[in-house]
Amino acid sequence: MIYLDHAAATPVSKKVFEASGPYFLEEFFNPSSPYLPAKKVSKEYEEAKNVIARAIGAKGSDLVITAGATEANNLAMAGVSGGVLYLTTEHDSVRRVAEQYGGEAIKVLPSGLIDMEDLRGKITDETELISVSLVNNEIGVIQPIAEIGALVREVRMDRLRRGVKRQILLHSDASQALNLLDVNVARLGVDLLTLNAAKVYGPKGVGALYVSHEVRLNPLTVGGGQENGLRSGTENVPGVIGFAKAVSLAKEHLNGNRKKYAEFKKVFLDELQGYELPVKKHMLDNFVVLCYNGIDAERLVFLLEEKGVYVATGAACAASKGVRSHVLAAIGLTDSEIAGSLRISFGETNTKEQIIEAARIINEVVRAERERVAHE
Ligand code: PLP
Repeated sequence: MIYLDHAAATPVSKKVFEASGPYFLEEFFNPSSPYLPAKKVSKEYEEAKNVIARAIGAKGSDLVITAGATEANNLAMAGVSGGVLYLTTEHDSVRRVAEQYGGEAIKVLPSGLIDMEDLRGKITDETELISVSLVNNEIGVIQPIAEIGALVREVRMDRLRRGVKRQILLHSDASQALNLLDVNVARLGVDLLTLNAAKVYGPKGVGALYVSHEVRLNPLTVGGGQENGLRSGTENVPGVIGFAKAVSLAKEHLNGNRKKYAEFKKVFLDELQGYELPVKKHMLDNFVVLCYNGIDAERLVFLLEEKGVYVATGAACAASKGVRSHVLAAIGLTDSEIAGSLRISFGETNTKEQIIEAARIINEVVRAERERVAHE
């Protein structure tokens, strides 16, 4: 099997699995319990949060642990009374919620980058929250969050001068970023940042929302008051211990990963034939979007699977519902180009040999498909 869909899911790394294990079996205590072994678990849980937070230049007390990035994105918007701006290419867990708040979409340029002019023009005194992901999950485009952060600071100063009381916050979903980017909340200028363990070789269903100490959110769940009252429910100790290990490993491998995936991308594209690249720049090197106009990419996914190569047509959740990619449409692809596009995402399960082999198999399958279509 050659798995080329790491943007959808990464396997839990062995070291993460080993770090979590004892917290399922022996150290199973509820961190809120009064006896010593539970207090020890509580301390280790807090330390794991510190490790995750430090990786993004924050403190453990700034993090709200959630059951994945979807919940973190929902929580980021809980409490706003309206005035949400979101990038049109956001994941549904931002888009759908923003729509519920009557949010307005910000355009992207054909490169997939945010249209800063459109953003500037849409910010009003009513704007409370701007949500732009650091890395897009379908095309791997890296957004200029620090530039948006600087703009938000300007708006804040201007409101202060004019006596406009409404707050303006910047949220970024960094679910796909930690394997290749050095993420730092101060450098980015974000008030809220979403993290996702499942995309960094950690467990699924574990995520976090960084919340700057100046921000007040409304909890989505109420109960025992865990996570500073923002996310009640008994702590997922094994998940968070694993998440911390995964984040540490991602940090450790950052430079190696950058080199490795840049090389993978080069050999992959050198070997491939007859494709177009709708997205070429400002993207993570572990992402490739291939467009085979006139061919049905859904069929390619199925034919490639028969040959042991696993790829995607877009976000896994959209693909399973047969929904046309809103991301590829936003960057200006025609319906036929969207229908012919594949998303490839490299990861730790891959070797250079596999990448070359996969490219050869894709060439072969596409060639056969083109012939079949020509004779229809
Ligand atoms: N945001 C982005 C950018 C993602 O890629 C994903 C997962 O695909 C999510 C949010 C949702 O994450 P989860 O399904 O773990 O809640």
